[in-house]
Parts: sequence; C-alpha cells; structure tokens
Amino acid sequence: MFDVLVIGGGVIGGAVLRELTKYNLKAVLVEKDEDVCMGQSKANSGISHAGYDAKPGSLKAKFNVLGNKMMPAYTKELGVKFKNNGSLVVAYSDEEIKTLNELKQRGEQNGVSELSVIGREELKKLEPNISDSAVGALFAKTGGIVCPYELTIAEIGNAMDNGAELYLEFDVSNVLKKDGYYTVIASDGREIDAKVVINAAGINSGKIAKMVGDNSFEVGGRKGEYVLLDRESGDFCSHTIFKTPTEKGKGILVTNTVDGNILLGPTAEVVEDGETYTSALGLAFVTKTANEMCKNVPLYNTITSFAGVRAFCDRHDFIIEESSVAKGFINLAGIESPGLTSAPAIGKYVVEEIVSKLLPLEENKNFNGVRTPDYFFKNLTAEQKNEIIKKDKRYGKIVCRCEEITEGEIVRAIHENPKATTVDAVKRRVRAGMGRCQGGFCQPHVAEIISRELGIKMEDVLKSSKNSKLLVGKTK
Ligand SMILES: Cc1cc2nc3c(=O)[nH]c(=O)nc-3n(C[C@H](O)[C@H](O)[C@H](O)COP(=O)(O)OP(=O)(O)OC[C@H]3O[C@@H](n4cnc5c(N)ncnc54)[C@H](O)[C@@H]3O)c2cc1C
Repeated sequence: MFDVLVIGGGVIGGAVLRELTKYNLKAVLVEKDEDVCMGQSKANSGISHAGYDAKPGSLKAKFNVLGNKMMPAYTKELGVKFKNNGSLVVAYSDEEIKTLNELKQRGEQNGVSELSVIGREELKKLEPNISDSAVGALFAKTGGIVCPYELTIAEIGNAMDNGAELYLEFDVSNVLKKDGYYTVIASDGREIDAKVVINAAGINSGKIAKMVGDNSFEVGGRKGEYVLLDRESGDFCSHTIFKTPTEKGKGILVTNTVDGNILLGPTAEVVEDGETYTSALGLAFVTKTANEMCKNVPLYNTITSFAGVRAFCDRHDFIIEESSVAKGFINLAGIESPGLTSAPAIGKYVVEEIVSKLLPLEENKNFNGVRTPDYFFKNLTAEQKNEIIKKDKRYGKIVCRCEEITEGEIVRAIHENPKATTVDAVKRRVRAGMGRCQGGFCQPHVAEIISRELGIKMEDVLKSSKNSKLLVGKTK
C-alpha cells in the first residue's frame, strides 16, 4: 500500500512527487507512456512568466507569481538550465499602449515587481530586430526561460533518488474507492493501492476525475504549433517578445531558448484527443506573425516544427483541490499556461496544504534535493574534459555532432533515474538529435548504444512510443 499515488509524469506530477519525498511517505508516480514528460510539459514555450497576465485573485495569478520567484533557486538545485532574460509585451499601436498600462497595473496587483512601460527608442536598444511599427513595450524584468523537459525529468529523477517509485506504461483506466484507500487500475490489469491519489493527468485529468464520480469540470485541448530555428540564429533576440494580448489570447511569441535556439509560436486551436501534429496553415500563421513582430526573422535556419496541447478547463482557472465527492482524491486539473512557471509553487502547496490534512507529514531527514547533471560536457574547460576522459573514455567520443554530445552522457542518461530507454528519451535528456540535422547522423548510433546498454535487440529499440520501432529486420 502506497501513501500517495500520483497519476501523470508531467511537470506538475513531478513537482508534487519530489515534494512528497521531503517527508517519510511511500510515494509512487504512474505514467501511461514509455517515458515521463510526454504531455504538454514536453512541448511548450518554456517561459517562466512574470505574472502580469492572469486575473488578480485567480489561482493562476497566485501560483504564477510564486512559481516565478521560486524558479531560479528550484532550477539551480535540480541542475536545470534557467535564464532570467526578461520579457517584452510589444505594442504596435497607441491603442495597444493602453492595454500595456492595464497589464502593468494587473501585474502589480498580482505582486509582480520590476514592471515598466518603455518607449520605442528603449525597445529598439533592447531588441534591434523589432519591427519598425513597434511603438513601445511592457518590460518585465523577472520573466525567464527554462527547459521544460529537462525540468520535469530532473524533478522525477530527484524524487526517485529520494525513494519515490515510477511505473511507466501504466495507463490508468479505472480508480476504485475502497475503505480508506483507492485501487488504481491500469488498462493491462495491473493494480496499485494508495491512501491518497493525486490526479495530475493533464489533458486526461477530466476523464480521471470522472472515474471517482467527480463530474464537476471538463478538460479540453488547445493545440499550439511552433517553429524552431537553429542555434546559429540564437542572437536574433535576447528577450521573450510577445504581442499585446487581445480578447483571443496572448498571440504568438518570439524568444530565445535556454539552449540558444530561437522559438516562434504557438498557435491556439481547439482540438479533440490531444492531436499533436503540425499543419501547413498553423506554421504559416506562426511565421507570418513573427515577421510582423520582428524584422528579417531568419526562417532559413528553421530546423524543425512541433506542437503541444494545452489542457484548458471550463472553470477558466487551475483546479487545485481535494475532490468534493472523493475524500483523499486530489485534482490538479486544467493546468494550462502558466503551469510550467507555477509548478514549483503548486508542488509545495499541494503537499503542505492539502496532503498534510490527509496524512501525517514527518520530515525525511535523508532528503537530498540537489541533482548534479554531468550533461553538457561541451561547456566544460579543456582541463575538466581531459580529467573526465581519463576516468571514462566514452566522454571522449562525440556521438551527436550538432550538439556535441558524448557517448558518456548518453550512457549515463540510459542508467540514471528516470532511465531513458528510447531514442527520444535520450534526446530529451542530453539533446542528442536536437541539433541542425535533427538526429540524421546520430540516431542509429544512439539506438546502438541503447541496444547495448539495455541488452535488447536493435530491432526492439523504439524511437518514442510502442509503435515506433526504428528497424524491422536485416536487409543483408
Ligand atoms: C503550447 C503550449 C505552450 C505553453 N507555454 C507555457 C509557458 O511558456 N510557460 C508556462 O508556464 N506554461 C506553459 N504552458 C503550460 C504548461 O506546459 C503546462 O501547464 C504544464 O506542462 C502542465 O503540466 P501537467 O503535468 O499538468 O500536464 P502534462 O505535462 O500534460 O502531464 C500529464 C501526464 O499525464 C499522463 N497521463 C495522461 N493520462 C494518463 C493516464 N490515463 N494514466 C497515466 N498517465 C496519464 C500524460 O501522458 C502526461 O505525461 C504551455 C502549454 C502548451 C501546450
């Protein structure tokens, strides 16, 4: 019997799981896919929003501002890349300047510091490539950027290092209420008992709540499509640039990423069943809008496109509460943007304010929140590299040429919590295949390393999910 079972290996489930391990609790996370971070936490803008956007008094506003403040220390502890690059909401007409002043006021009400409305000249100095039609901007110095999958993987890995368990390919199909506990059942028949269940299933959180008879909300999907430019164009902008929001939403952004790429997007389109394919129409809208926002966007350096699906809910705010019809069943639902930013604050709140009322919390004196990644070997000095290569020759062999990722880093990702067992899982941990050639060169080599390290046949190595075998057999 587990004390707590978390459904969903996204950034929210991960934040809660890690927080649980600060106490002497038997905790487990179940995830339906082959790896963690396969939902909206995998494909988003990676922005730590300052917090001027959400309605004052909403849970979105509260957790956004708290999470944004926690993010620098949280990412440092977890060894995850974060940059406080600041964000700019740009006005392209005098009418839009009025909206910026309203946003500034709203941000101040939410508790955001260091907000200012700047004029065209200052904006040009900050972002020389901004369109000539820009007239001013709201400058939020506390805005930041973070790698969303690195963060999710680090949270779950750190929780596992501190004793939490992870069950992958555990697709929750039913939750039965028993006397003082729940039995959570997977579609393959596996069962796990837990006293408290936390529903952090993203786009499926509405369906999971219904399994315990909670019909109090519906969760839908809103797709966002992106275009990613190569690191070669990384100095195109240095802040996160938004358009002034309209009634229809925040619109698209142009930003650099913590890994030095340029990201354009996302669109916002209501979709059924979390479809994550991109469309010619969606991508054309992204590039057209980016070209209106900035001058000479280096689209010739496009290396890929992708889409993520926001889990929005009909209450138009985050749901962070114990279900009113199922004691000990906690819903973390409708966590769309700014959910990534809010994750550290949500994790802390859920454990300290909700779980604490259901289970006794006794401090885990052995908890170690620090995670030391040795990834990104390329950033070390020549002396540091030589020292490491002396101990382990695999760090002397580059596998991904574009991102300069070594065999040593890949091997570590395969064996470290949470273990990478597919080519895409390796990619999300160490960036092998994320560069200009998008795995064209390194993918077979990564597959060979996975096959060797896990002792499985090459034909059984997956790209990402069950039906994604890379090889079907030998030709010669
Ligand atoms: C296009 C887009 C842009 C965004 N930009 C930002 C941004 O810049 N800044 C920001 O703060 N936020 C942003 N967000 C929001 C942010 O990504 C989410 O709020 C956050 O990732 C939510 O995490 P989660 O853990 O709740 O959900 P998810 O990451 O979706 O995790 C849910 C997990 O549950 C699993 N699951 C589902 N059903 C089951 C089941 N039956 N059994 C077991 N497991 C199951 C899924 O596979 C998934 O791994 C953006 C979102 C999108 C889509």
